[in-house]
Amino acid sequence: MKNYEASPDLLRGRVILVTGASDGIGRVAATTFAAHGATVILQGRTLAKLEAVYDAIEAAGHPQPAIVTQELSTATVADFQQLADTIEREFGRLDGVLHNAGVLGDITPMEMYDPDTWDFVMRVNLRAPYVMTQALLPLLKQSPDASIVFTTSSVGRRGRAFWGAYAVSKAGIENLSQLLADELRNTSNIRVNCLNPGATRTRMRATAYPGEDPMTVPAPETIMPLYLYLMGPDSRGVSGESLDAQERPPTA
Ligand code: NAP
Repeated sequence: MKNYEASPDLLRGRVILVTGASDGIGRVAATTFAAHGATVILQGRTLAKLEAVYDAIEAAGHPQPAIVTQELSTATVADFQQLADTIEREFGRLDGVLHNAGVLGDITPMEMYDPDTWDFVMRVNLRAPYVMTQALLPLLKQSPDASIVFTTSSVGRRGRAFWGAYAVSKAGIENLSQLLADELRNTSNIRVNCLNPGATRTRMRATAYPGEDPMTVPAPETIMPLYLYLMGPDSRGVSGESLDAQERPPTA
């Protein structure tokens, strides 16, 4: 799948929301989707960083994007409903959501994990994707070919010492993705999958592994084939899966 080659206009005509589009994997995913023809809604919490992504997409001549600023730890049900209403009013459609925004929290033993940090991580990594998806489902159901992609991590598949709320939130995302895929399979055109980027050169990775030389870790640009595959029509019929962006093709 790492070798998937997307056609240049794979996402033409589609409207795709990317959370955490200001930095790291989300920034590259948003610009990559735009480069393949999508109108991208850039969601994040830091306006200046989102504006820089917006400007880069416009300067490259891709479809004009949009910006939505939201702090995911405090966003309310009403805020997410307002997001859905705005998308409906401005674009009249929504064909994809990449739930990418995430926080690491503390890397520390359970015994010492701070409950407030736990709650913060859970709100950003698990509650926000759940409530946002709930608000966006009516719009997604109107799309002829919609894709929801949640972002997981290897520690969400198998718990690992010291990863605390981050690991638990990602395990929750895996389960949320599965149950939603199951609920929507026979009743809609929406596919729902989890994607594990794998070790990727971003601020989060550098925080989690301070002793690592970032240049030994793949850049976000190298993991985009699977993001494109899941967001575009070639993944029709694939739902309820948890995939790895850096998985080696069977022949490698
Ligand atoms: P990153 O570089 O730290 O970027 C995180 C993004 O999420 C930024 O756009 C950030 O906005 C946004 N964000 C964080 N907290 C937010 C909040 N409270 N409200 C709104 N937006 C918020 O992280 P990344 O490495 O690209 O990670 C992207 C996703 O991949 C995450 O879900 C992460 O768990 C997952 N992942 C990453 C790796 C890896 O090796 N990098 C491995 C496995 C899974 P600001 O720019 O404003 O801070």
